[in-house]
Amino acid sequence: MKFSRRIEKLKPYLFVEINKKIAEKKARGEEVISFAIGDPDIPTPAHIIEKLCQAAHDPVNHRYPETAGLPELCRAIAGWYQRRFDVYLDPETEVLPLIGSKEGIGHIAFCFIDAGDIALVPDPAYPVYSISTLLAGGKPYYLALKEENNFLPDLDNISKNVLRKAKLLWINYPNNPTGAVAGLDFYTKVVAFARQHDIAVCHDGPYSEVAFDGYKPASFMQANGAKAIGVEFQSLSKIYNMTGWRIGMVVGNARMVDALRRLKSNLDSGIPQAIQYAAIAALTGPQDCIAEHNAIYQRRRDQVIEVLNKIGLKVTVPKASFYIWAKVPDGYTSVDFTADLLDQVGVAVTPGVGYGQNGESYVRLSLTVPDAALEKWLMQLSRWRNTRQTEVKK
Ligand SMILES: *Cc1c(COP(=O)(O)O)cnc(C)c1O
Repeated sequence: MKFSRRIEKLKPYLFVEINKKIAEKKARGEEVISFAIGDPDIPTPAHIIEKLCQAAHDPVNHRYPETAGLPELCRAIAGWYQRRFDVYLDPETEVLPLIGSKEGIGHIAFCFIDAGDIALVPDPAYPVYSISTLLAGGKPYYLALKEENNFLPDLDNISKNVLRKAKLLWINYPNNPTGAVAGLDFYTKVVAFARQHDIAVCHDGPYSEVAFDGYKPASFMQANGAKAIGVEFQSLSKIYNMTGWRIGMVVGNARMVDALRRLKSNLDSGIPQAIQYAAIAALTGPQDCIAEHNAIYQRRRDQVIEVLNKIGLKVTVPKASFYIWAKVPDGYTSVDFTADLLDQVGVAVTPGVGYGQNGESYVRLSLTVPDAALEKWLMQLSRWRNTRQTEVKK
């Protein structure tokens, strides 16, 4: 058998070593509390599941769906954007439902990237932006996200050579993994940059509804001229705790949406219709669950940060997303510190370097841990400090 170069080039999963350690500990019967996975622990709201069950019984929904998605779903998405962001979208040309937003994020590279083309990709970032670029035969050019710049990329210092070959720019706010946010002023700058250099923008915004202290994240689509040069990926996964159902969407520039629709119509056969009806129920039904979930995440955020600070880790309090991006203590790499936490107190976090070179010296903690486990973990974490102190005294 001879595999393709593109599949051979795919590096083993970033977190192999840590996962191996977790598996070993579990095999020995030791408990591991994981803060490593960004997947809501709270169930999908009941009225959404009701609709899903009801739709599943209807034989109409047992047949192939259309790639373009149900027209009612496209209208529900446009309606949600209108109510939430005061953004008008044409449901027929500017909206495309996806089999989870990751699916569209992965596939859109094939609409833009030819061999040797560049995609501008933040570092650290959700790994799919660079992997899809590589799979399409292109090269990611990394834009460092630094704490001193509030984890926003510097668009003013990219060489002409890179800009000439760049076809796509990826941005993501509220940000995974840093928890940073961006305002309309940044998005407006991105639009000007993209139009000047003729680069298509993909904004990935699945955390727009996970926000704290009354903060309301903006949509990239609210920036003047955004529709002329870019799209926004959204997802029901993090808004309504629907990661398991696989449904998201891309909205914005009609030519970009059409290109992705054409590609997908040749690859997949749409989203199961019962799930599309559940999504309509989610987007058009009561929205109280969002504030309820955010109150839970906010309480957890404050509890976690209090303990992290106590043991000497520096943390910027996130305004949005369910991630805490914490600087590791001096003398540790992100991988060393992750391994040490796991060995000493059985707590798993994600090493920042897994999201790119600029993630080094940070770890990411996800707040999607059930409250009972959280209490236990916080006690464990204090123990980590004690193991360090005795060592220092010795
Ligand atoms: C969770 C997440 C997604 C994708 O979620 P889907 O479940 O595929 O819709 C996309 N981007 C980022 C940054 C995420 O954290």
